[in-house]
Amino acid sequence: MTTVGFVGLGIMGAPMAGNLVRAGYRVRGFDLAEKGPRSLLEAGGETAASIAETVNGVDAVITMLPDWPQVEAVTFGPEGVLENVKPRVLVIDMSTIRPQTSRRIAEAGHTRGVRVLDAPVSGGEKGAVDGVLSIMVGGDADDFESAKPLFDALGKTVVHVGPHGAGQTVKAANQLVVGGTYALVAEAIVLLEASGVDAGTGLDVLAGGLAASRILDLKRKTMVAREFAPGFRIDLHHKDMGIVLSAAREAEVALPTAALVAQLISAARQQGYGSLDHSALLKVIESFSGR
Ligand code: NAD
Repeated sequence: MTTVGFVGLGIMGAPMAGNLVRAGYRVRGFDLAEKGPRSLLEAGGETAASIAETVNGVDAVITMLPDWPQVEAVTFGPEGVLENVKPRVLVIDMSTIRPQTSRRIAEAGHTRGVRVLDAPVSGGEKGAVDGVLSIMVGGDADDFESAKPLFDALGKTVVHVGPHGAGQTVKAANQLVVGGTYALVAEAIVLLEASGVDAGTGLDVLAGGLAASRILDLKRKTMVAREFAPGFRIDLHHKDMGIVLSAAREAEVALPTAALVAQLISAARQQGYGSLDHSALLKVIESFSGR
């Protein structure tokens, strides 16, 4: 049986680890908080007391952590992943982080004979629970093929998009489109309500026409009802827009709408909504019109 060490059992990691157990993998998990390990035990997995213990002897390691400082802390250093895995192991980071950190991990892995992939995901908590995530993978094609059965247990759309870091670049593009779509749906709601038109009814029509989107499908009802429990927190999307802007700078392209979306999400944080779902961008758009 293939054994997987899973570090980071939060909103996304806990259900992903559970899906691996259900697919027949032996999963050993670790998280600083108590909730994730508890849910992995309930799903039939195992837990460990340290990262070294989590990754000892496993065939693959998955990290699903908030941002690059946590990924670096877990991956590098004497107690970290790279120092404690056996040779040829697959080290797969599925967090959303800056591409340069993914490339740095790949270089460090290469010098130790460890195979590294960056494989960020899209699809939210529901996609993680249902095992239907979109997974965008950067790294060597052979390593992607080795990891494919594992990805298939977690996602529905699994694509090798290029070399190390390319998965993170595709994820940055994804977050740009998601953030921009939320901003526009929020503006549509404000316009409809201020004009005396029922927003729910109006968005139902939009969802059946050219303006249709997954965000309209999944979130229009909760947005109109002002239900903003996460989901995906504003704080994390703020982090992701930083990745988008730095990737744009590195690629030497001008993305004016990306800058605007980043500012709107930044305003949401400043207004105290960092721990709400990113659909709470609606609160910022409303505040511009005193609503
Ligand atoms: P989360 O905060 O719920 O989970 C992260 C987990 O990592 C927490 O349980 C935390 O205790 C743990 N952690 C932090 N530092 C650690 C360390 N040093 N050692 C062990 N565990 C540690 O976040 P999440 O929503 O699950 O997101 C994880 C990643 O997935 C982020 O990069 C996020 O951007 C990305 N993502 C999230 C969603 C979503 O809808 N929530 C969707 C797609 C991608």
